[in-house]
Formats: sequence, structure tokens, C-alpha cells
Amino acid sequence: MRRLRRGILGSRRARRILRPLGLPAVRRLRLAHARREAGDYAAAAREFHELGVQGEAEGIPRSVQAFLLAGQSYLLAGQRQQGLDDLRHAVEGARHFGQLDRLMAAGPRIADELRAAGFASEAQTFLDSLGSAGAAPSTSASAGPRPPRLPPKCPSCGGIVHPGEVEWADERSVLCDYCGSVIPGEEG
Ligand SMILES: [Zn+2]
Repeated sequence: MRRLRRGILGSRRARRILRPLGLPAVRRLRLAHARREAGDYAAAAREFHELGVQGEAEGIPRSVQAFLLAGQSYLLAGQRQQGLDDLRHAVEGARHFGQLDRLMAAGPRIADELRAAGFASEAQTFLDSLGSAGAAPSTSASAGPRPPRLPPKCPSCGGIVHPGEVEWADERSVLCDYCGSVIPGEEG
């Protein structure tokens, strides 16, 4: 059973399977987002890192987002090497899961956040690794339908919603980058 599932998820056709996470993982994700928001970066980083390791082992492409947040959180916690390791791991995971274009769409925003927090050289290292992984410059900003108004956070896991980087579920709703649940756009 396990081997079968891995086989399916590992196939090229299955690259687009971005199924929602199970409830225990969503709870952990919610906790990790809350810790990050509260400024407890070391604890948040550990949680995101473990979620990333677990998700990657299960063949879940969203593990890339967990490693990104782990990397950023480790840096903010003053654990520079772990931070750089997890950011690099996120790029490798994105390449493995066929998500490089999506990561490239998020790359400038992530680099801006790192620079704003005083990590200019780490931001450059991250962008360089993205470039050398073969990511093409982002064109996603102009592609796709015009975004509906989105809530600032995912109602399910509490992750921050970045409107320019979301994956569409339909014309009025998007999929959470972190937990995969459907986030309806707000009316008006
Ligand atoms: Zn979510």
C-alpha cells in the first residue's frame, strides 16, 4: 500500500496532486504559524522543519512551503546555518516536486522579507540557489484571473495568504499554500 502510494505520488502525472493535509498536520501547522506570529521563531522553525520533513517523506509538494517557513524562522531565531540549509532544501524540494515556477513567484517577496529583517546576504543566497536550480523569471503576476478579495490568513491553518502567489481552486477561491484547504474570496 505504502509503496503503491509513493509510486503514484512520484509519477509525473501526479505532480499536480496538491491534496489537503490531514487534520493533525493542519493543527501542527496552525500552532507553528501562531508561534511565528508571536515571535517565538525557534519553536516555529522546529515545527515547520518537522512538518517539512514529514511532508516530504510522504511525497507532499506543500512540504516546500514548510521548509521555506522553517528557513525564514531559523534565521529570525539567530540559527543562521539551519536557516540557510532549510531555504536551500526548499529550492531542492521545489525542483523535485515540479514547483520551481511557483517558488519563483514567491521568491522576490521572500527575499524582501529576509532583507527587511536584516538578512541581505542570505536573501541573495536564496535567490542565487533559485536561479541555479533553473527557475524561470516569474510571469505569474499577469497570468490567471483577477484575484477576488482574499482574507489575510487561511481560516484553516492560520497561514498568511499572499494573493500574488496563490493557486486557484476556481474563479472565486484559492487553495491554501500551506494546508491545501479551499479559501473562498470575500464578496465585494
Ligand atoms: Zn491553510
